Amino acid sequence: LALRAAHAAGPAWAATPSRERARILRRAFDALIERTEEFAALITAEMGKPLSDSRAEVAYGASFLEWFSEEAVRINGRISPAPAGNGQILVTHEPVGLCFAVTPWNFPLAMITRKVGPALAAGCTMIVKPAEATPLTALRMAQVFADAGLPDGVLAVLPCSTPTVVADAVFADPGLRKVTFTGSTGVGRTLLARAADGVLRTSMELGGNAPFLVFGDADLDAAVDGAMAAKMRNGGQACTAANRFLVENTVRAEFTARLTARIAALTTGVGAEPGVDVGPLITAKQRANVAALVSEAVADGARVTTGGHELPGDGYFYAPTVLDDVPATSRIVRDEIFGPVVAIRGFDTEAEAIEMANDTEYGLASYFYTGDLQRTLRVAAGLKYGMVGVNRGALSDAAAPFGGIKDSGLGSEGGSEGIHEYLVTKYVGLPTT
Ligand code: NAD
Repeated sequence: LALRAAHAAGPAWAATPSRERARILRRAFDALIERTEEFAALITAEMGKPLSDSRAEVAYGASFLEWFSEEAVRINGRISPAPAGNGQILVTHEPVGLCFAVTPWNFPLAMITRKVGPALAAGCTMIVKPAEATPLTALRMAQVFADAGLPDGVLAVLPCSTPTVVADAVFADPGLRKVTFTGSTGVGRTLLARAADGVLRTSMELGGNAPFLVFGDADLDAAVDGAMAAKMRNGGQACTAANRFLVENTVRAEFTARLTARIAALTTGVGAEPGVDVGPLITAKQRANVAALVSEAVADGARVTTGGHELPGDGYFYAPTVLDDVPATSRIVRDEIFGPVVAIRGFDTEAEAIEMANDTEYGLASYFYTGDLQRTLRVAAGLKYGMVGVNRGALSDAAAPFGGIKDSGLGSEGGSEGIHEYLVTKYVGLPTT
């Protein structure tokens, strides 16, 4: 039914004036902001993050609707004279068509608006399959669009406890033109392989293994603040979460001590309760994975400076943890932790730091702290990542192109680049006058 409705609605939606599409997106943005508390409570109830994190997600998620309402009216092409003098080259951009979006549970609203915003702005239709753990936020968001005047059939949200049931039906439709996915690299590979059969456009926002570098010349107070933001947002359950802390040995003891004090002071508990800084992990399996990464690192020789154990309570709680002296060969250095665990290693030279930072198959977010301008330029150029944060621990911005390289994915969400993920380029050869 969703496919049929999308096909029926597609041509009229693509032909709807961009100003009208922009107005609908803007109304949806306003409604989300107005309903921040309601959405924040739902996000917290569904996936457990503290209410303050959920409110921040509503603001962030809504910002993509605002941004793409502004981009919708700027889908410009170009015209240029053919160098041979035999005509003119007209370039236009048209909507890709029907898109299939598959999204994760860690940001139940924002990971969808990052796709729906540009797709609707471009004039595409979209079927969203949200994560099994977080269908309700997605459904309520769809209602916001209906209330904002989005025509029936343009957007459908299809939750399902077995993802392949929805995916099989959608991939079987010859009218599908694009797959946009946010989630793990493994599932991304599966969807890329399926997309190959239909020669579909793809956008892939996959896993990360973000390095967080602290040089000896950095402002350590700022670096500790940045580390808290880069690690603890969403309890570490973020693709951009700092996964490997690489700290110059001259300041490592001091940085570790200050960060340990901050991490040890965090309150873990049920996200809806006041004063909670860190919520539970999403599943028992995820908590067992975090616990195994920590105990293997300790067996390998890492030193626990705080935490290092599960916490009792009504949820899959794990104590915010700091590990120092983590050996290079430990699994925690290679795998995405997706939990509140800081893993610290030392380095002596800038070249060594860059080599360690790049020693991963992932390439999503990276961060570094330094007080030296020349070093800033060298390190920003040397990091093989789609995103680099300089003296800051948070990167997300609807106006910036968010995306990874290597095993972290293909394409960008946000920025002026984001809408082009949902547009195809057409060249019209015009004759000479
Ligand atoms: P996941 O890959 O397990 O699931 C993501 C989505 O894919 C869910 O909706 C799931 O139902 C669906 N899915 C699973 N198997 C499928 C299949 N065979 N066919 C079709 N759909 C299928 O990821 P997750 O555990 O929900 O999220 C965590 C992962 O997401 C982490 O690796 C994290 O780094 C990544 N992530 C990346 C970004 C980014 O922007 N790069 C953002 C957030 C999360």
